[in-house]
Amino acid sequence: MQPPFPHQLDKRLSEVTTFGIGGPARLFAEVTTVEQMQELLLYAHTQNLPVFILGKGSNSLFDDRGFDGLVIHNKIAFCHFLDGHKIHVGAGYNFSLLGVQTARKHLSGLEFASGIPASVGGAVFMNAGANGTETCQALTHVEYVTEKGELKTFAKEELAFSYRHSPFQEMKGAIVGAHFQLSESREARPKQLQIVEYRTRTQPYGEKSAGCVFRNPTGHSAGALIEKSGLKGHTIGGAQVSPLHANFLINTGTATAGDILALAAHVKQQVKEKMGVDLDLEIRCINYVPS
Ligand SMILES: Cc1cc2nc3c(=O)[nH]c(=O)nc-3n(C[C@H](O)[C@H](O)[C@H](O)COP(=O)(O)OP(=O)(O)OC[C@H]3O[C@@H](n4cnc5c(N)ncnc54)[C@H](O)[C@@H]3O)c2cc1C
Repeated sequence: MQPPFPHQLDKRLSEVTTFGIGGPARLFAEVTTVEQMQELLLYAHTQNLPVFILGKGSNSLFDDRGFDGLVIHNKIAFCHFLDGHKIHVGAGYNFSLLGVQTARKHLSGLEFASGIPASVGGAVFMNAGANGTETCQALTHVEYVTEKGELKTFAKEELAFSYRHSPFQEMKGAIVGAHFQLSESREARPKQLQIVEYRTRTQPYGEKSAGCVFRNPTGHSAGALIEKSGLKGHTIGGAQVSPLHANFLINTGTATAGDILALAAHVKQQVKEKMGVDLDLEIRCINYVPS
């Protein structure tokens, strides 16, 4: 039986991820409203169908065989500027654009977002951060649809965020909206422009990647450890350690998920051997059959 909502069969996930890697999704559907998200999650729950919530695919490595379930592409993309320097934004909104728009309005708190090719929902889920700031800092509330389709609002105080971690990583629903409290500052726009300039100079922007592949171990920079291990430019199949920023693994054109994982395993093993430090993956690896 066909699902009772618009969907695509066998959509190639390489088309919706910044790595440009991933086989077909059994079912793929886009949602633009909270109600649609509720309907799809309830449907999947009642059908016992595995679900993956996709934002902008900038931290996701899908299996070469694809995903044997429903991929829900979150495109809930409103943005409301409210009184008192507050904003209410849909989880599918472009996080980088939000960083630019808020800075242009002389609002401070999300300057670091500019240049992070994420959705707001993905940034909250990963507690994305840069330049000493994390997404959770300016966040006040999160709107969330549970796996059974119920809409809830969480205050930040109820949520234990830490480095690249949010409690949503242990939950099965979808972030659908976020509220941020910003502050007025004439420094916001110059700071945001400086951040973008630094990023484009030090990171491989036009390349297919998922940003930093490894988490920074306490007291270390993963990129510096990889560089000191002599791995810049190291290649396996179509996957390469970026010659510009060693914590970026890039798809030079033909990389498979297998190539990226083999290269990541090699990097991990070499850094352990040469620097004595364990590296852990920051990117999300999604199996064909979800566990
Ligand atoms: C060039 C480049 C630069 C980057 N720079 C940074 C950086 O400076 N700092 C940083 O922290 N990261 C960086 N990243 C990594 C990435 O952008 C972040 O991890 C980002 O938060 C991922 O957001 P996304 O919407 O693309 O998530 P996706 O890749 O779509 O999803 C990632 C995870 O979040 C979950 N998810 C996404 N949306 C939702 C939702 N609405 N509800 C529930 N779960 C959801 C997915 O299921 C998945 O598990 C960079 C990536 C690239 C390619």
